[in-house]
Amino acid sequence: MSLEGKSAVITGSNSGIGLGVAWALARAGADVVLNSFTDRVEDHALAEQIAKETGAKARYIQADMSRPGECRSLIEQAGACDVLVNNAGIQHVAAIEEFPVETWDSIIAINMNSAFHTTAVAIPLMREAGWGRIINIASAHGLTASPYKSAYVTAKHGLIGMTKVVALETAREPITANAICPGYVLTPLVEAQIPDVAKEHGISEDEAVAQVMLVRQPTKEFVTVEQLGGLAVFLCSDAAAQLTGTAVSMDGGWTAL
Ligand code: NAD
Repeated sequence: MSLEGKSAVITGSNSGIGLGVAWALARAGADVVLNSFTDRVEDHALAEQIAKETGAKARYIQADMSRPGECRSLIEQAGACDVLVNNAGIQHVAAIEEFPVETWDSIIAINMNSAFHTTAVAIPLMREAGWGRIINIASAHGLTASPYKSAYVTAKHGLIGMTKVVALETAREPITANAICPGYVLTPLVEAQIPDVAKEHGISEDEAVAQVMLVRQPTKEFVTVEQLGGLAVFLCSDAAAQLTGTAVSMDGGWTAL
């Protein structure tokens, strides 16, 4: 699969899944735009490293996905956007009656609304280019729920709904829109939680992973960012041209339970 000549924008891609998807798309030949809300030397260095190791063009553009104007200007600054990966996301865990209003608003803005703004600007560019792929990183929590994750579950269900609408609105064009629904992925964010979970439950770190974190993941293994990158590349392939409007689970069997 060669994505040579294609340009990809991946929101929230200075770590974790977004960065893994950016590497996979660049290795497949796409030029990539990395993004987050920070503007640090190390953010730009990630893009330089990808360019150096893959030969793809890579840039880092700072834009805060909680702000509609910045979501839209990210795509405008990118200039081309054949592949749009809406990945930026945050989480907060609290009972709904105690859920901080500002945190609710931030989760809905970053995890769901940002995809509306980036997609709205990207689709005319895809039409102009005559080809496009929209990949929304949802979650197993876009299809199922867990207590205390009201904002996250709401946003991820909404993102899957938006994916279906965009697929229908672009159905007669060579543009597809799909959601990827990962189960638990071993990103730096999740890795950092393991010692705390072990401590809280008075168990070893291995037990914390198997008995608490992966309790709903039948394979008892984390999904990897490389596997998700491979799925994103597949969604960009010709074989996936008729794959649109769907939510593809990569969750170690979570949603089969
Ligand atoms: P992560 O924290 O490593 O990545 C989140 C990314 O979003 C980071 O690059 C961060 O800088 C960026 N981001 C946060 N706020 C932003 C903002 N206001 N503007 C721009 N960028 C912002 O976490 P991750 O696990 O890689 O998560 C990436 C996506 O995958 C999220 O949408 C998350 O909901 C989803 N997801 C993760 C898992 C998992 O187990 N890790 C499972 C299912 C879905």
